Amino acid sequence: MLMKNSLISDLKKNIPPCNVLEKLEERYVYAQDASNSKEIKNIPDAVVFAENIEQVQNVVKLANKHKVPIICRGAGTNVVGACVVEHGGIILNFSKMNRIININKENMTATVEPGVVLGKLQQEVEKLGLFYPPDPSNLAVSTIGGSIAQASGGAKSFKYGTTKDYVLDLKVVMADGSILQTGASTIKNATGYNLNTLFVGSEGTLGIVVEATLKLIPKPQSKKVIMAYFDTVKEAVCAVNSIIEQRIFPATIDFMDKNAIYTVEKFYPAGLLVDKEAALIVEIDGFEASMKYQEDVITDLLQINRASQIQVSHNEEEYNKIWTARRSSMGACAKLKPNVTTDDVIVPRDKLADLVLGIREICKKYNLDVCMVGHVGDGSVHPQIPIDYRNEDEYKRYKLAKSEIYDLTASLGGILSGEHGVGIEKRPFIDKVINSVAINYMRQIKKTLDPDNILNPYKIF
Ligand SMILES: Cc1cc2nc3c(=O)[nH]c(=O)nc-3n(C[C@H](O)[C@H](O)[C@H](O)COP(=O)(O)OP(=O)(O)OC[C@H]3O[C@@H](n4cnc5c(N)ncnc54)[C@H](O)[C@@H]3O)c2cc1C
Repeated sequence: MLMKNSLISDLKKNIPPCNVLEKLEERYVYAQDASNSKEIKNIPDAVVFAENIEQVQNVVKLANKHKVPIICRGAGTNVVGACVVEHGGIILNFSKMNRIININKENMTATVEPGVVLGKLQQEVEKLGLFYPPDPSNLAVSTIGGSIAQASGGAKSFKYGTTKDYVLDLKVVMADGSILQTGASTIKNATGYNLNTLFVGSEGTLGIVVEATLKLIPKPQSKKVIMAYFDTVKEAVCAVNSIIEQRIFPATIDFMDKNAIYTVEKFYPAGLLVDKEAALIVEIDGFEASMKYQEDVITDLLQINRASQIQVSHNEEEYNKIWTARRSSMGACAKLKPNVTTDDVIVPRDKLADLVLGIREICKKYNLDVCMVGHVGDGSVHPQIPIDYRNEDEYKRYKLAKSEIYDLTASLGGILSGEHGVGIEKRPFIDKVINSVAINYMRQIKKTLDPDNILNPYKIF
């Protein structure tokens, strides 16, 4: 208690006191994130809203002095417990460091503070005819800092890649308070080790991102979404492979299974066809002149692969309606039971059907409902399982199913996360897919950069 009081008083001397939260009820709010863990094991000793780099450095200095962890926080929407407070410490919140510092049209780059909301950055660059493609489904709230730390992807990863493909340079406050610059504002960089990729996906365990320079690309002239329904999951998955085999690269190939379609339609009616087993959401984009050609080729392929119904968006309203429905799936699934869990497993694309059908079998075996969505063009599947944590038996079955889903993924040559990260939720399982030599090197990197284990300790491993 004494230690906590002196930490708070030190923080208030170095940070505007209105940006330091110390009341129990205020701190309690920041103990959890969107992983929706069953238990709250600990709460932060303090919550600090940083306004600039110097304040971040002050917080690091004090964390070292008091030997307490720092857990960075953007919007807290990661779903793996990457912001969960296990060992007390300081939640360092970036919602007040949310300036878009510069959008450089000529270089096609944007330099931003970590608290900038992803959807806001997209809107601003699009006004200039530019495009920042990473688009996690909750882009309306998730932040650049959080999406860098989790290596976020999204529907458009299929054509455009994920966050790691757009980070050119980061300013990072290290565990000793120094500032490291990972790259440069240039499009190419072969000058030394690639430190950008070290920090992207590091879940706040290696350093604190205080500024990011991101690559932008030209905004596609036109876009359209095609929603195709299928009477079997297998047909839907075969259609994905068939599109890819033709070397056609739509912007997205996303998937919803019957339960996901039904649940979204129940809670957020959008005119989805609830009698179908599966749907693919295929977005095409590019030059206006190419749109008709792309649409024709893809609808032909979908029909050849037995799509039983195809809807095409004809205007922005119809486009948004389809995407809003797809993006609402987790929210809709959360209405089925008091809790919802989501996962993120990914396999080589040719194993996709085995993964989707296997997950269904596993959930059936453990008598669990599952709504499946995914960025299937990448081989990535998000099984969303509604659950009531108060039901111990159901929770036990869920844990067994989760472990079996990971075994299945590993057996298919896949990995445990393509875009959500590891956090604490997947920590016990990473040795199923990462070899022990690699884990040892990862631990050594952590120890070198953060010898006192101040930065988001014990996340990932
Ligand atoms: C409904 C829903 C849908 C989602 N859909 C997708 C999807 O389609 N694709 C996808 O990839 N993800 C998805 N996610 C996961 C989530 O959106 C991403 O992980 C997100 O980008 C995290 O952003 P955030 O600002 O909420 O970060 P937070 O959850 O606040 O933090 C995430 C991690 O980043 C660290 N961190 C935050 N800021 C910094 C910083 N400045 N420096 C260093 N570390 C920092 C935190 O310590 C933590 O480890 C979804 C989540 C939800 C709830």
